[in-house]
Amino acid sequence: MPPSDASAPLQSSFPSDQRSGRRAFLKYAGGIAAGIAPLAAAHAQSTAGSAKVDFPPDHAQSEASEKMPDPGLPPAERIGYAVVGLGRLTVGRLLPALAQCKYSRLSALVSGDRAKAQKLARQYGLAEQSIYDYGNFDAIATNPDVQVVYIVLPNSMHAEFTIRAARAGKHVLCEKPMANSVAECQQMIQACQQAQRKLMIAYRSQYEPLARALLKMARDKKLGDLREFISANSQNMGDPAQWRLKKALAGGGPLPDVGIYCINAARFLSGEEPVEVQGGIVNNQADPRFREVEESVQFTLRFPSGFTATCSSGYNSHKSQFLRLQGTLGWAELDPGYAYEGNRLRYGLLENGREVIHEPSIAASDQFMLEIDHMSQCVRQDRLPHTPGEEGLQDQRIIEAIYASAQAGRVIRLDAPGNTRGPEPQQEG
Ligand code: NAD
Repeated sequence: MPPSDASAPLQSSFPSDQRSGRRAFLKYAGGIAAGIAPLAAAHAQSTAGSAKVDFPPDHAQSEASEKMPDPGLPPAERIGYAVVGLGRLTVGRLLPALAQCKYSRLSALVSGDRAKAQKLARQYGLAEQSIYDYGNFDAIATNPDVQVVYIVLPNSMHAEFTIRAARAGKHVLCEKPMANSVAECQQMIQACQQAQRKLMIAYRSQYEPLARALLKMARDKKLGDLREFISANSQNMGDPAQWRLKKALAGGGPLPDVGIYCINAARFLSGEEPVEVQGGIVNNQADPRFREVEESVQFTLRFPSGFTATCSSGYNSHKSQFLRLQGTLGWAELDPGYAYEGNRLRYGLLENGREVIHEPSIAASDQFMLEIDHMSQCVRQDRLPHTPGEEGLQDQRIIEAIYASAQAGRVIRLDAPGNTRGPEPQQEG
């Protein structure tokens, strides 16, 4: 009698009569096959249409089930990206993230430095023909391997390359800040609309698991009604010759570069848009780093519900990247909150008459990978990105209002924008 339990050890039930060994084995094997057939059929049905390979449970019900990771699409079916600008962010974060993505793959490099591009092409398995420079970039139009152009250039170049990419028929993922002026942001949106291509701004924090957990707490009213947001994003800059310290290339100093994270977080965590802006600037032209851009900016945003954001962003203090939300029932903070990795969430509430501080453990996931795969899923499923051009435009309007307020020494009022965000990102990973 063959065992009905397909997982029973083979040796213990194998027939002992060696002369009839072959016939007995065939009979035994047939029995096993009959026993596992229903399981296999059920399993095949549950994974039909997906590349995911799964296994029936092999542990008792007392054990947590082992989930097989979603492998995503086979590489050839993933959305192809041309990355424009091979600087620190691209080399250090984006190319490694693209290599981990489930719906996206690197398909071209665009650089003014051919030797660097060749080195990276070798590393990431790209052919020589997949390397472009800023001059021949428009030829990307005839490359069917490229569906999205990811722009990672100095801020002043974002508008030009977004418009050229859209005219080449490609979707665009563009680094923050979207551009150096409201007018440029509007041109970028218009160019993508005209070409019927998607435009997403790479606000990685809106895809980061801890920030999303904090957003859920705020929406679930775990902190009560939100009243205040307090945040800083600062770093101490070196080489005075770098593009971040040149106004024409950077558009400003710490405000558009790192202060933008505070503006964006106050907006997406509260779900409101500011109606009043007040800004102050510290200029320090004696320091060669700050001849063209401010040293630091302090600003307050007022929202319709009475919620306020009080923020600081500087280029002359040690790296500090925190945000804190205060509500009527509790507080929550991310410190660091804007880092590439190692962000930390804590929150405090009164529980049974005692102040209790929680530090939930939430599995880390590469925020660049999540953001890029979100764009790919939007392209595949023809969805509006969660952080489209309108999201970048609204931050740029606020940045300009903060500078105008600092210059005029008064509060600047802002009109409410229309919708600036697309549907919530799904679990892309
Ligand atoms: P980087 O200086 O390291 O790289 C910039 C790249 O642009 C270099 O490869 C450089 O050769 C090229 N380039 C082309 N024309 C140039 C010019 N005229 N002057 C200077 N460089 C020129 O900068 P980065 O840190 O990689 O930043 C690139 C973009 O990415 C910026 O818009 C920045 O705001 C954004 N960024 C975003 C994040 C994030 O976390 N989302 C982090 C860093 C940078």
